[in-house]
Amino acid sequence: MSVIGQQVELIDKDGEILHLSHKLPLAVGDVLRLNGVPSSSVLVTEKKDADGMHFTAKFLFNTVFRNVGAIPTQRKVLKTSAAEKTFYEKIVIGPEVSGNLTRYIIEMDRAHFCEYVEKTFADLIKRENLIQAGDDITIGFSGGVDSTLLLRLLLDPRHRIENTNFRAVTVGTLAGTHKASFIEQFCRANSVESHFIDDDSIQKTFNLRDKAANVIDQVLASEHNQKAIFVVQHIIRRMLEEFRESVGSDKIILGLEREALLTSIMAFYLSGYPTPGLFKKSDGKNHYVFPLMSLFKREESLYLSLKMPEYSEVGRPEHHRSRTFDLHSSEWRGTVMLLVGYLLDAFPGIDVYLENAAGRILRNLVTPIKFEICKNCEGSYTNTSVEDEFCETCRVLSDVGLLRNSAEVAKKMLHA
Ligand SMILES: [Zn+2]
Repeated sequence: MSVIGQQVELIDKDGEILHLSHKLPLAVGDVLRLNGVPSSSVLVTEKKDADGMHFTAKFLFNTVFRNVGAIPTQRKVLKTSAAEKTFYEKIVIGPEVSGNLTRYIIEMDRAHFCEYVEKTFADLIKRENLIQAGDDITIGFSGGVDSTLLLRLLLDPRHRIENTNFRAVTVGTLAGTHKASFIEQFCRANSVESHFIDDDSIQKTFNLRDKAANVIDQVLASEHNQKAIFVVQHIIRRMLEEFRESVGSDKIILGLEREALLTSIMAFYLSGYPTPGLFKKSDGKNHYVFPLMSLFKREESLYLSLKMPEYSEVGRPEHHRSRTFDLHSSEWRGTVMLLVGYLLDAFPGIDVYLENAAGRILRNLVTPIKFEICKNCEGSYTNTSVEDEFCETCRVLSDVGLLRNSAEVAKKMLHA
């Protein structure tokens, strides 16, 4: 039997290359999976005769499964001319008028893809009323793909909202000094105020014993290392809130993409603890909006590669100097994000259903979400199951012994 090898270079988020390879023949489960049959839904039996091994897979459910993977397709081509190459295919599965499922495929050339991204972005802002005329906006700007694209789209004169003022804020060495020159250049070229929050301010706000960068290293070296990425994200948000308050800015905009929206929706379904909002969240004091949540990460990266080809040069080797280089998460939230990826693969377009359903549930919530104020960083958090005076981040920092007064606080709590 001839064996065909298939090799794929999978480049990790940090530029590390993993060599994935697979040699045929495939295992039964893989053959099923490649044909769209989940191997958890079948019972496989094997029989050996003179011709060799024979496998029979019996599907265990009543669902009609005669033509596996044969949902009828409707194709729409959006191209300036027939000669244009397809640059992007948007696939969505949904019911057509008769109620039967159809796989809609929209083929776009470059020009139509760019139009699609810009329209999708502008439509969400309008539909959810994310930005109003006269808004003074603080943008978390790390110089990464998301925040760069976000700022670029927001500043686009074709759909910029009247009298809006943007301040790009980069938080400490946690996120971005490796791109400092890019950030500076970008903001200058676009006439946006650029601010940098240094490590000393972080140390002060969080009552840290040590410099912020060292503190993250110590969290990484501790048993809480899987939480380091959330600690970093929380610190960045809290510092943006402090900045916002100090300049009297109206809201904070973060460049979270569609997958981040789906991950919080899934986390909500899996835990039962509602998220305080989908495209905007507020604790009564700080108003966050997430205008990129209509676009997938792949769409963002492709758009940026067309509109700012020079951007990719701020590339991989630089990444290693970032504080966030070592931050991976294989804990709960990381797993949920992976699950979202599988769902999108199996059912392109499921994001729309998840979004609508979550929106409906949240609008009908009877009990309002209660926010607690953290005794250490003064940030707000939703108290889930654990009784605590600290937000989850400050709890980790305290447990690792990184808070200046953690000993006293611990004592106080013991005697409370
Ligand atoms: Zn806190």
